[in-house]
Amino acid sequence: MYQFSRAIYRELAPHIVAPKPGVAANANHEHVLRACEAVVERMAVDRHYFARPERTLFCDIRSHFPMSEQGRVHQVVARYIGFAQQFLIENPLAGYASICGVAPQCRATTRKGAACQRVPLPHNGYCPSHQHLADTEDRELVAA
Ligand SMILES: [Zn+2]
Repeated sequence: MYQFSRAIYRELAPHIVAPKPGVAANANHEHVLRACEAVVERMAVDRHYFARPERTLFCDIRSHFPMSEQGRVHQVVARYIGFAQQFLIENPLAGYASICGVAPQCRATTRKGAACQRVPLPHNGYCPSHQHLADTEDRELVAA
């Protein structure tokens, strides 16, 4: 996933403004890079609860660019976040594993009280045997 955050950073780095006097020279670069990483990490791990990643990232980093570059910043962010989204749709498990180092596991607990070890379906985080829990969850959300 970090190929996407690095690509955004590489394209935008030449346009990052210098920090205020007294602030470390690379502070703005550091902030932009970390913000890009945080957004792709969250996309990989928590995609279903992350509605507008390109908007989140743009709002987070735009203050580090001059007014004249805002359009370009938005374009670059939207393009690469789009690529990342496409990648996650096609490789949801690989995206998760690249951030966490392990494959995702089903969110359910077995009757013996241990965490279910099976691979979850990408769309709700439960394995095929525990799909009914996702339905229950949806009903509770509606009720609440
Ligand atoms: Zn399970």
